[in-house]
Amino acid sequence: MSSKKKILFSAIQPSGMLTLGNYIGVLSDLVNIQRNYSCLFCVADLHAITVRRNPSVLYNSIFDIIAIYLACGLDPNRSILFVQSHVYEHAQLSWILNCYSYIGELSRMTQFKNKSLQFSKNINSGLLNYPVLMASDVLLYQTNVILVGADQKQHLELIHDIVFRFNKLYGNLFVLPTSLASLTGSKIMSLLDPNKKMSKSEPNHNNTIFLLEEPSSIIKKIKQAKTDSDQPSSIIYDQEKKPGISNLLNIFSIFSGLSITDLEHQYCDKIYSEFKRDISELVAEKLYLLQQQYFDFRKNEDYLQDIINIGAKKARLQAQITLNKVYQSIGLPVKYY
Ligand code: ATP
Ligand code: MG
Repeated sequence: MSSKKKILFSAIQPSGMLTLGNYIGVLSDLVNIQRNYSCLFCVADLHAITVRRNPSVLYNSIFDIIAIYLACGLDPNRSILFVQSHVYEHAQLSWILNCYSYIGELSRMTQFKNKSLQFSKNINSGLLNYPVLMASDVLLYQTNVILVGADQKQHLELIHDIVFRFNKLYGNLFVLPTSLASLTGSKIMSLLDPNKKMSKSEPNHNNTIFLLEEPSSIIKKIKQAKTDSDQPSSIIYDQEKKPGISNLLNIFSIFSGLSITDLEHQYCDKIYSEFKRDISELVAEKLYLLQQQYFDFRKNEDYLQDIINIGAKKARLQAQITLNKVYQSIGLPVKYY
């Protein structure tokens, strides 16, 4: 990796089938991003175990994500692609940073509150500490830029707080990361409840478009997506008053490369059903092409395993440098390999 480029970190947890939200938030612009940054892409499997999972489903979804990254254009010779649990330094730094994070600030996180409601029988401390592990993921690599979806804003603020707190005590040890909101910086919302974000762990699958979903099912779901009840129907962007159409306009804009204003003009005298027909066909067609690439990579698990072995080695070399600095700062002896 060229040392002149800024360091970019991004992660996806293997917590279910990848969605259109994940695609638009972090996967849709990978080719461009790799040109401009030294990139680390991580499958955040330690994050995924805050919820009880079937072991073989979890195992397979880790490889699914590796294959999707590659299908989206990730070049393993250019970027580091690795699995979080292979780089032990993440858990190690996370313990240390937990001792610099407060229960009050962690329990205020919207994601903690939502997941505590969703998994009310298993509110484990991992759910609470999740953002601290996320801070460790990012800070271990002296990341300049985090590629995250707009849904992670609150966690980013916590990372900033941890950096300020730690750096104030021990000097400028961690780089303060900024976020790169890819493309439009959109938060893609649920199809049937456009006030809620689209998520892989959402139990009602009609809310979500999955990247590996059959084209006919994608078309059906978009056609059923909740639109706004104003009459006559108008295809204009208004996040507050028309969250359903605004969400579809966001998606359409990203898949077509047209601006939202262009789309509003193009559809100014059209009805919702015509708009939905066009967007659903476009999304289904583009995802179908992505799926073909994905299946090519996914069938060769040995190749995927080689890639993550190499990725873990490269990532550990960088992670150890930061962790050693942290050890020295707080008074732990460094172990030399
Ligand atoms: P979960 O429901 O298990 O949290 P998720 O769909 O939120 O799953 P993550 O693995 O948590 O997916 O997130 C992977 C990346 O995708 C993150 O950078 C996140 O910001 C981004 N992302 C997730 N959902 C959306 C969304 N609806 N819109 C934009 N980006 C998103
Ligand atoms: Mg999430």
